Amino acid sequence: MKFALPFPRSTEPRPTARHMALVCLALAASSTAASLLNSAGWNAGGITILWPSNGLLIGVLLCERRSHWWHYLLIGYGIDLAVNISLDIYQHAAVNLAFYIAACNMLEVFLASILLYRVISPCPDLTQRRQLRHLLLSGVLIAPAIASFLASFALENMLTLHGLYGFVHWFSADALGVAVVTPLYLSFRRRDKLLHRAWWEQAGLYALLAVCTFAVFWQSHLPLLYAVLPPLLLLGTRLRLAGSALGLLLVSVLGGYLNTIGHGPLMLSQGASLTDRTLQLQVFLAVSMLILYVIEVLKAESSRLQQHLQTSETRFRLLAEASKDIMILADLNGKRRYVSPAVSEVLGWTPEELLGGTYRQIVHPEDQPALEALLERCRTEGMGNVLTYRCRKKEGMYLWVETNVRVYRDESTQRPVGFVSVVRDVSVRKAAEEQLNEAFRMVAGLVTVDGLTGIANRRRMEEVLEAEWERAVRNAAPLSLLVIDVDYFKRYNDFYGHLQGDTCLREVAQLAARMVHRSNELLARYGGEEFVAILPGTTSEDAQRLAERVRLAIERKGLPHSGNPHHCVTVSIGCATRWPASSDARDTLFTAADHALYRAKSGGRNRVEVAESESLASTAT
Ligand code: GH3
Ligand code: MG
Ligand code: MG
Repeated sequence: MKFALPFPRSTEPRPTARHMALVCLALAASSTAASLLNSAGWNAGGITILWPSNGLLIGVLLCERRSHWWHYLLIGYGIDLAVNISLDIYQHAAVNLAFYIAACNMLEVFLASILLYRVISPCPDLTQRRQLRHLLLSGVLIAPAIASFLASFALENMLTLHGLYGFVHWFSADALGVAVVTPLYLSFRRRDKLLHRAWWEQAGLYALLAVCTFAVFWQSHLPLLYAVLPPLLLLGTRLRLAGSALGLLLVSVLGGYLNTIGHGPLMLSQGASLTDRTLQLQVFLAVSMLILYVIEVLKAESSRLQQHLQTSETRFRLLAEASKDIMILADLNGKRRYVSPAVSEVLGWTPEELLGGTYRQIVHPEDQPALEALLERCRTEGMGNVLTYRCRKKEGMYLWVETNVRVYRDESTQRPVGFVSVVRDVSVRKAAEEQLNEAFRMVAGLVTVDGLTGIANRRRMEEVLEAEWERAVRNAAPLSLLVIDVDYFKRYNDFYGHLQGDTCLREVAQLAARMVHRSNELLARYGGEEFVAILPGTTSEDAQRLAERVRLAIERKGLPHSGNPHHCVTVSIGCATRWPASSDARDTLFTAADHALYRAKSGGRNRVEVAESESLASTAT
């Protein structure tokens, strides 16, 4: 996350006259002030401590569109020239030296700006390592070095400084000027933190620094140069980068002046000329500047990191706390470390009540093995898994929930360190599923029930007959079967109509069902007006007796049937019994009963016939 505000780079088609006038004024003031201050040093045979105008102009260019630069470079050139000529700085030199030096200055400004434009201009924030590194490399080292190299030829002749000395003279003052003034200008343009402090705090801090600097540089007996650092650091801490830069400017002006007039701890170096002392002061300022800027970058980075952490924490909390699902973070042993507030709404527990506990606390005992297995799978395979289980609410009832569990890993080692689970109330879905299952069971049941009479249908009868046959084989028990057929039913339909025929079939089914009522017996509608009774464990005699009771019950019911010689509805029943020995002969039971029924029909109807011979034959085997 970037702290810097989007930078207000000029969008005007050309620079406004007001802005150009302001820049003009600032450059003239800074150049004049610096020249006047430094002239005392020059007169005493010393060198410039800090040259601010170039740094200021670099700052201005970095805030402008490149197409505007030539306006400001022209202004800078003019001001430089005017100040130098009017103050008669190069007194021994020809006027054209002033032209040459001003050109060198503008070359330095242009070089630095062109090198820094891409990195700094879009969003100036010198608390970012990259920007500060570029400023120090391009603005403080490369550009002043090139300009100093060119200028040193002229200076060598005119200021009686020789070779390297002339280079150092120019370079150190310019480099320091860029290092201090460019960050200062950019900070002010960025409306940096400096402006958010109370005026009295700012004034107090600068007054403290001024007093300290004065005290350190007024005396010449104690080596207290570095005593200026603590108030500088304090300034940097409270007023950030702009405070540091302004503080450094203050120390260089005040300390530089006192140093020039022969005061300060640097006087302690035996036999050092003013130039040597100025260089020492510049080294001190450069070191202090580095310390302050590095501290500022580290502070900004740590606050960025903190902000980043806070943002992600806020984001996570927002998501976790706004969600209706419960978010749980647990360690690898399943101990909960975080539970989102949704748990109160879903389960009635407060998050605090669940912290530190494991799933055993609230998961239904029957579901615990499945959950343990799921966690183990997550631990070993590292994959996400979903499980539906019952969770105990605070008031004791169980609620169906679905959990989606994943392992989360340590970012640096990538080793699993815990589980993150999203738990959702699925009780409504579960109830719907249950209803659906019930419906399915009903549909499945319907398939085995006869729609007209409500008793078992033929399919069911065949299933049961097969199962009972097998059981009879295993138990060496008898199995009997009745085939019941309504007599003259075609005539009944013809006479009373089909609907009445249906009612009649229902009546017959009910009457027969009352007789065939044992839990292992089954009465089914075989088809049409035929019914079958399966009678497990029933001997032939008992089956015959039951068949007789059924026949009698229907006859006695006396359902009118004018087409029947008995004038009521009657049935004929074929009865067969087997002692099954193997699965093979299953069909013979039904065939035998059907044959018996045929005999009952042909024997006059309304009677029971037993398939005696087959039964005996089977028994014999
Ligand atoms: P028998 O005494 O020899 O059994 O003579 P029956 O007339 O009963 O025998 P048949 O097989 O000739 O006629 C059976 C009749 O049962 C024919 C059909 O109209 C009637 N039937 C079959 N299923 C139904 C049903 O679901 N409802 C009604 N109302 N009648 C049915
Ligand atoms: Mg029939
Ligand atoms: Mg019939």
